[in-house]
Parts: sequence; structure tokens; C-alpha cells
Amino acid sequence: FCRETKVFHNLRDPLPLPPESLPLSAASFALSLIPSPLPAQPALVDAATGAAVSYPDFLARIRNLATALRAGAGVSRGDVAFVLSPAGLDVPVLYLALLSIGAVVSPANPLSAPSEIAHQIRLSNPSLAFATTATASKLPAYLPTILLDSPRFRSFISADAAAAAPQQPVEVRQSDVAAILYSSGTTGRVKGVALTHRNFVALTVANHALTREAEDELPPVALFTIPLFHVFGFMMALRAVVLGETIVLMERFDFGAMLRAVERYRVTYMPVSPPLVVAMAKSDEAARRDLSSLRVLGCGGAPLGRDVAERFAARFPQVEIVQGYGLTESTGGVAGTRTPEESKVFGSTGRLGPNTEAKIVDPTTGEALGPGQRGELWVRGPTIMEGYVGDAEATAATLDSEGWLKTGDLCYFDDNGFLFIVDRLKELIKYKAYQVPPAELEQILVSYPGIADAAVIPYPDEEAGQIPMAFVVRQPGSMLSNEEVMDFVGKQVAPYKRIRRIAFVSSIPKSPAGKILRRELINQALSSPKSKL
Ligand code: AMP
Repeated sequence: FCRETKVFHNLRDPLPLPPESLPLSAASFALSLIPSPLPAQPALVDAATGAAVSYPDFLARIRNLATALRAGAGVSRGDVAFVLSPAGLDVPVLYLALLSIGAVVSPANPLSAPSEIAHQIRLSNPSLAFATTATASKLPAYLPTILLDSPRFRSFISADAAAAAPQQPVEVRQSDVAAILYSSGTTGRVKGVALTHRNFVALTVANHALTREAEDELPPVALFTIPLFHVFGFMMALRAVVLGETIVLMERFDFGAMLRAVERYRVTYMPVSPPLVVAMAKSDEAARRDLSSLRVLGCGGAPLGRDVAERFAARFPQVEIVQGYGLTESTGGVAGTRTPEESKVFGSTGRLGPNTEAKIVDPTTGEALGPGQRGELWVRGPTIMEGYVGDAEATAATLDSEGWLKTGDLCYFDDNGFLFIVDRLKELIKYKAYQVPPAELEQILVSYPGIADAAVIPYPDEEAGQIPMAFVVRQPGSMLSNEEVMDFVGKQVAPYKRIRRIAFVSSIPKSPAGKILRRELINQALSSPKSKL
């Protein structure tokens, strides 16, 4: 912490990054770091079928696909490719191929409703989409779509067109946008977060430098239970490739199948969100399986309760929980625990990552605060997004002129530089670490004829972390029921966004400017006798 500037930073020396002017894609940089000679273990494994892709084959598929996308599908630098697919073996290949030719990867949740997808497509303006037979029907008919499970795509990844017709490599600038991911940020509806190649290069440098030496002989195998369309999965997949690990993918999450996969593939590492730690700490089946290969859970995306972490530690003493905190807007990186000693600081999400600066800002006075004091966390560094696509207003509200990203999280640093996330100041609800923007649900609710007004808040839940709860004002004379409201919303949103609790009220508290006073509603929900049911 610097007393003069009131800025927190890591005490280690900053990590050198490649010069900014050097043409470099996130893919070519990541692939150049894969250990040489290439790892003997597979790059990718499908958990359900056991199908595996070796490292040489993985690299060949990326090369072939990149060539075919340029020559056969006319994809050029700067084109946006919308990706709507479960986490199959082709997804990492597709991401890296697109990044390597300067196309922008824009992955979305395949469980999204068509109206949610239409909104995302309006934001990112893709020129083509990649989907599967199962998900393609959710895409607008006008958007050219390549099916990952089609003979055409199979020929793209298998045909060695690169050898037959060598192409000039695409010159990708680090300042080019690499990916558009979706996040509602601190307020309002979903926005498109533009992340540059530079953002991913900086994160990759950090991931590569901070990797610990393997402590035993087990080959590193990472099982992905987190989705690849979210920043956490996206960047962890890139990290696993850079480290030459095996990525085991599950197309559809199932707790029992996950435990079986750990046993079958001798999984050493799992990036997870807190609900999975809760489930493992409680599960009888987990105790019956041979999970002895498991060394580390990398946990992030939402707060991990201290009691849960302690319960887990008591049950799986050989497994270290490495905590990480980040946002889509920071390419996932901000802070993390780096050593077993740091991981024991329960309740903390670790220390700032390299090259990342932070400020704790009093939300009312705007004054920067010192260690031990709570305020909004602002972060700055090379992993911070370029902005929200096509939304200068939202960008200006989130990124200030000096490059500080306002996280909307209430935090403090202790005297040793450990970051503690105390609360969320922003509107965002996190259901099992998935983003549920209240504004989106409120818009749907007030479109219902029987509803005069509505507000949505996070309600605590042990299993999910938080569930969306709606306060609903009925139209005069309306007899609207809980089920009707839940059904109406449920039909228009992805399953994780469903409203799971409702209170009918006579009015919604608002500020003089018309802003919903969510804090008041949260307090009301927590103190109501019903909450004790
Ligand atoms: P997303 O953009 O979906 O990754 O959401 C970012 C938000 O998730 C952060 O601003 C936090 O509110 C929350 N979050 C992420 N990681 C953590 C963590 N380790 N502890 C507490 N909250 C977290």
C-alpha cells in the first residue's frame, strides 16, 4: 500500500509483458508457451465417452480449422463469431482457431432463451455463428451458422489444408478485440464486454509465471465443471493449455458423473464455483469415491463461505482450495491465493495479481481508503476490459479516465495485503456463480398485464449462494398467484435466472429519482418472519 497515492499493489516485481506494439494474438502467445517437447498426456478428454485428443492432434486441429475458416468460410480479422455450444472437445479448438486469425470469439450460455440470445446478438453483431444441432434453433435464421456436429465442421478440423495451400499468417494486433463476453456489470441489462488480445496475453503471463511446481508425479489433469462461455472457464482453459495440462470436459454437469470422472481420469485440479465445494463437503458419495488424485480446487465466481471452506478442509485434508476473485470486466483476474499458507487465510480471496493495482474507495465521499477500511474496490491493470461494445455511457460509468474499473464490490485489504470481499454494492445476483441481472427480470415482470410494479433482489440460499426474489405489486383487482409469475418469467429466461421466491407488496420503495431502494427490500426480506420458514 502506498500512503501517498493510496494505491494497493503486489509487492513482487511487475511481470514483463511483450511490447504492446508487437503483433500477437492471444492464441499464438498461449500456444508458444506449451511445454516443449509436447506433453505426452492428452490435451482434451471428453468425460462421458473417454474420447481423447493428443497435443499434436490438438495443435493440428487448431491450424486446420483456422485455415478452413479463412478459406472455406470467409472469416476475416475483426469478424465476430457467436458460439452457442455445450463444453465439447471442439470448443477449445474453435476458440483458439478464431483467436489465431483475429476473429472475435463471443460465446454465450447454450441454456439461454432465444430472447436473451437475440439481445446478445444485437450487442455483438456477429457475422457468423457456431452451434450444435441441439442449440441452433435458438439462433436467428438470418445468421450464417456452422454446426459443430456437422460433416462440414469435421472436414474443417481434419483436412490438412494448411499444407496444401499455405496462407499468409493474419497479423493480429494486441489492441484488437479478442472476445466479447456477456455481463451486466454493476447495473442494468446484459452488456458485451470487449476483451483484447492484450488482456489475455497479460493474464496468460501471470498464469504462467505463478504456476507452482508440481509436488508429485501425477500428470496434471484439470476437470472443468465450470462453463467455457464464462470468463472463468474461458481463461482457465487457456491456462490449462499453456501449462500443458489435460482438460477433461463435461458437456452436461452432473455431480455423480463428476466424481466418477475424478476417479477415472485421476483428476488433480478442478476450477469450481462455491456451490460445488458445498456439495462436496456434504456428499456421501464423495466420501465413497477414490478422489486421492485431487490436489487443488480453484474456487471463484462467487463468495465461498468460511464454514464451507472449513468443512471441506476437514473432509478432504489433502485438497487445497485456491481462491480467486475477478470479473468478466477484468478478464477474470484480480486476486488469488498463491501458496498453501495464503490459502489458509479463510475468508480472503488472496492477494492482488501481478501488474494489478487496486484502490478502496469510500462509495459516498469518493475518498481512497487505507488497509482495514471498507469501500468499493477499484482495479487497474493490463487485464481490464477495453469497454462495453457500443455502450459509451455504460463504459464511462464503469471505467474512469485513469483506467480504474469500478467493481461494485464492497471490500477491504488487511495489513498483509489480503483482499476480503464483504458485500456486493452492485445490483448483480449470483445464482451458483451465474449472473442474474435484476433489471432484466424486472423488465419482464412489469411487461405482465397483472403486474403494476416489481423489484428483484438477491435472497441468501445455502446451496446456490443467492436466489432471485421478486417483490411484486399487483394491478388493482388482479389475483395474480406466485405460480403464474414464476411461470411467466420462467418461459423467457435461462433456467438459472428463474424467480424462486416472491413477496406481494403494495408498493416498491424508490428514491426521489425513481431508483429502486434494493437495500431496503433486502433488509425487509431478511427480517420478514417468512424468511425463517
Ligand atoms: P462475473 O463477471 O460473472 O465473473 O462476476 C463478477 C462478480 O462475481 C464480482 O464482481 C463479485 O461480485 C463476484 N465474485 C467473483 N469472484 C468472487 C469471489 N472469489 N468472492 C466473492 N465474490 C466473487
